[in-house]
Amino acid sequence: MDYFARRKIAPILAEPQATENVIVMGWVRTRRDSTNLSFLEINDGSTLHNLQIVVENPDRFPELEKIKSGAAVRLVGNLIPVPQRKHKIELHPEEISLVGDCPADYPLQKKRHSFEYLREIAHLRPRTNTFGAVNRFRSKIAYAIHKFYQERGFYYMHSPIITATDAEGAGEQFWVTTFDLDKIPKIDGRVDYDKDFFASQTFLTVSGQLEAEIMSLALGDVYTFGPIFRAEKSNTPRHVSEFWMIEPEMAFCDLDENMRLAGEFLMYLFEYALNECSEEMEFFSRWIEKNRITTLETLLKSKFEIVTYTEAVEILKKAKMKFEFPVNWGVTLQAEHERYLCEQHFNAPVMVKDYPKDIKAFYMRVNDDDKTVAAVDVLVPQIGEIIGGSQREERLDVLKKQVELFGVKEESLWWYYDLRKYGSAPHSGFGLGFARLLMYMSGMANIRDVIPLPRTPRSAKF
Ligand code: ATP
Ligand code: MN
Repeated sequence: MDYFARRKIAPILAEPQATENVIVMGWVRTRRDSTNLSFLEINDGSTLHNLQIVVENPDRFPELEKIKSGAAVRLVGNLIPVPQRKHKIELHPEEISLVGDCPADYPLQKKRHSFEYLREIAHLRPRTNTFGAVNRFRSKIAYAIHKFYQERGFYYMHSPIITATDAEGAGEQFWVTTFDLDKIPKIDGRVDYDKDFFASQTFLTVSGQLEAEIMSLALGDVYTFGPIFRAEKSNTPRHVSEFWMIEPEMAFCDLDENMRLAGEFLMYLFEYALNECSEEMEFFSRWIEKNRITTLETLLKSKFEIVTYTEAVEILKKAKMKFEFPVNWGVTLQAEHERYLCEQHFNAPVMVKDYPKDIKAFYMRVNDDDKTVAAVDVLVPQIGEIIGGSQREERLDVLKKQVELFGVKEESLWWYYDLRKYGSAPHSGFGLGFARLLMYMSGMANIRDVIPLPRTPRSAKF
């Protein structure tokens, strides 16, 4: 197939050079004929841009007639730079073969399709400009995430996907079972989980954090970057049932140090996107949301404002704006409040810390006031929370009280307690939803469009 011998289009366009006998393979985007000339634009997925093919004396090529848009083709010919033209370089083929033809009912026609329509044909949408750009961008940012942590001596950890612990104490988990659902074994009317595959009730994980704590208290600095599952029925443009999350966990690290790392991490990714993904960023800025580049550049120049939850509530109470959800000490901050802080009050990204303990998770470290916990939310303009993190409770007695207060099932937490019993150490971490980050950086408005094959309620088609 000449897999190793062929040239990819991205490097050809990056350095236009006259070259003979070049092999190129890809899919036809457009075809146009004139007397004695045929023009094809082909794309091989390596870049947004197409390679211009100029066929002289088309009658020489018997297969050319069958080549329509969407077809897979293989071409051999000479690359000729044309500096005066927009496309800079073109291929003049000596050999043209149709690898896979494409009938006229190809669902991707030349016109612009709506994102809703493209979701229905998610198996073909990566061949469009937008979804090509989104998916190349996604890959590059995933790499940048690894690069950030690896450069700082963090170890990459794979948290288990099947788990018996309920990390958030919430009931939005998918159950994992091999029971025949028509014949579930029961004792006294209750499900006998001892007979199930793992001899206990198990779920798809909603967070890799608790397990990352295990590794952090041995390897020091670790991060997870893996799939997370939430069975929430909320059909919003911001929620999916399966997404990837990045969760670093650092031993001997307090909340303020955790916040510093979170800030550096975000800035690193924004800078990486601007410097290393300029083709995609320019595309997003032009076609998806105006000024995406300027937004990231402005953010890069700004500094995070840091306030406590209590201070944030005071600011919000004094606001001239009327909120849909009224603010009082003790309430969860809504996106409208978070955005007010960033966009109206500070005109900067904001970190809010020391939240009331009742509205956060059981594992967060209780502050000396016994009313708040060492939690932080990182807020950015336009969306509000992008990162949530905390210092974890490392004192066994305090942790046990929290578990009781939150009504978390203790049976599955014995190992979590052990970590506090044997050589406990302060440690901290945070979570960043990968898809939400991509939405923010690209300006894509619907989370379903930054995930190759999204899973949402009533939809796992592809
Ligand atoms: P939200 O209030 O938006 O539902 P959350 O408070 O439930 O978020 P966390 O439990 O703190 O979110 O999860 C950590 C991160 O995971 C969030 O900041 C967000 O980026 C992401 N996230 C949470 N739920 C989803 C989801 N259903 N789909 C995609 N990303 C999600
Ligand atoms: Mn949620």
